[in-house]
Amino acid sequence: MYVSLVYDMISLHVLGTASAKPTKDRNVSGSFLNGPNGSFLVDCGEGMQQRIASHDRWLRSIGSNERTKMSKIQAIYLTHAHLDHCWGVLPMLHSMDKIGRKSRLEIHGPTSTAALNWVKDRPGEVPDSESGIYPGDLAIQFDWWKKHGGKNGAFQFEVDWILYPVDQVGIEGISISDEDEMNVRAYVTNHLDVPSFAYLFSTPELQGKFDRSAAIADGHDEESIRKIALDISDSTKYRGPNRPSRSILISGDTSSDVPSFLEMKTSVDVLVHESTFDDSLQTKAESYGHSSARDAAKIASHIGVKFLGLTHFSSRFQDLSHLEEEARSVFNQSYVLDDGDRISVELDGSIHLERKGLEEWISIAHVMKS
Ligand SMILES: [Zn+2]
Repeated sequence: MYVSLVYDMISLHVLGTASAKPTKDRNVSGSFLNGPNGSFLVDCGEGMQQRIASHDRWLRSIGSNERTKMSKIQAIYLTHAHLDHCWGVLPMLHSMDKIGRKSRLEIHGPTSTAALNWVKDRPGEVPDSESGIYPGDLAIQFDWWKKHGGKNGAFQFEVDWILYPVDQVGIEGISISDEDEMNVRAYVTNHLDVPSFAYLFSTPELQGKFDRSAAIADGHDEESIRKIALDISDSTKYRGPNRPSRSILISGDTSSDVPSFLEMKTSVDVLVHESTFDDSLQTKAESYGHSSARDAAKIASHIGVKFLGLTHFSSRFQDLSHLEEEARSVFNQSYVLDDGDRISVELDGSIHLERKGLEEWISIAHVMKS
């Protein structure tokens, strides 16, 4: 259990809700996550750096304390190698360098053992169809990106390129970052022949609130209260129950038959799940390695989350209200997300979905603590 006196919630700024083809109002994938220990990106499609900057300008213009600054990003978590999820990385690295970044950046993503071996044995070569390796695998792309301006030493900051072979990750997923304030766990998902991950961001369980007035009422002075508050064993009497972990799970692109989701034992507050298709295209969803809104809702209900954000919509849909309805027929707290939406999870478990208005956030949904 992590002991903390000052603590923040998790908030996710969803900056791209289109699938591979962007539309007038929807961009390709990428979300900016603010947690208690810093800022992270999940996916980084084309143009992500401009989207982050323009979102941050809007936050500043409304006087928000919370911002989305590119300079604050500590790590980028890529769900898979399709370009609508990763094509913005290399240009972003160059911009980070130009604005004087000095701190290390981690870039995480899924690959396969075969692709890692290919890059080691045949660097610079694109895998042929007989190899069984997806030619755009992140191991291959990272190798090329390094050759095209991304190698260590090219920037004023260090880049850690970190790949995990999905064939070595079990149903329980793997912990890929475990800081005191936030754990990041990756789960293997199903996106045809492309190694792919979902990411779970979760805060640790926290001590209950300290009831100062009860300690004063028992006659403790300041000095003694300070001691009691810091002593976990003696302070039980004045503490409320432990406060549970808070978490957001982001699916990436996947069909709905993900064993890790079906067997998930961890409690999850928010699921942001792709819903490329609707009921009428259910067969297509399965054959393309994607999900329908209904599939996403079934997973949300199965895992027992409190809130489902739908994203990654096919450009064929102009009006998405029927996707929301189809999802709600299975899981009531389902919402179609827009670019720029903010989902926040409070320490007490309440969840808030807000949308950008002209000069302020507009509240769309508020799921109260349970
Ligand atoms: Zn995609």
